Amino acid sequence: MNIPHKDKARPLAIQVFSIEKNALIEVARAVKSDEEWKKILSPETFAVARQKGTERPFCGPLNFEKRTGVFRCACCGNDLFVSRAKFDSGTGWPSFIEPVHKNNVRYEKDYSFMMIRTEVLCAVCDAHLGHVFDDGPPPTGKRYCMNSASLVFVPLPNLEKILEK
Ligand code: FE
Repeated sequence: MNIPHKDKARPLAIQVFSIEKNALIEVARAVKSDEEWKKILSPETFAVARQKGTERPFCGPLNFEKRTGVFRCACCGNDLFVSRAKFDSGTGWPSFIEPVHKNNVRYEKDYSFMMIRTEVLCAVCDAHLGHVFDDGPPPTGKRYCMNSASLVFVPLPNLEKILEK
């Protein structure tokens, strides 16, 4: 397997929070080549999640998703956001005040387009999810501005019950 150089220092197994288990679980990081991802992802998801693209605002199917459930990584299935963290930012992209757990995402400084932004990535497979900004609502003040193409929504009517346990 051809692991990029900067990845060699990172552990191959990490702990992430699982909604289903309501606990931290150890998972192997998903490391695949672009060719491998291309075979299993839709063209939209490949372009956004693997090539750091941005979908057009108000076009993503999850922007208006209001049901109770979990937003998972479209590439690897890692739990990323729960519905109660979602808010209407008016930007046209699905927006959240916080991830499921700090372990489930990671961050990188993004200097593209003459801006300094904080890129949000899936901690398991390094999918590009979007960016996080400091102009979100309380209590976190964060706005996780995500691409629908990097997420899949799974309705989970008993989500609050699971998280209560
Ligand atoms: Fe992922």
